[in-house]
Amino acid sequence: MVVIVDKDACIGCGSCEAICPEVFGLGEDGKAHVKDKAGDKKFESVKEALEICPVGAIKIE
Ligand code: SF4
Repeated sequence: MVVIVDKDACIGCGSCEAICPEVFGLGEDGKAHVKDKAGDKKFESVKEALEICPVGAIKIE
């Protein structure tokens, strides 16, 4: 699994970080960045973040 955030789409709401801080974090640019691209141990919460992201910026490949 590879976790990707589309920074152009991200509005920096912080929901993904709140749900899964092991994988997502807000950067100095105010956008989410992926701390752990694999995030395999956190699949369920990554999936939850993907579903809750208001702009659909999170993708899992
Ligand atoms: S939930 Fe979506 S819009 Fe909000 S910070 Fe995360 S990637 Fe950005």
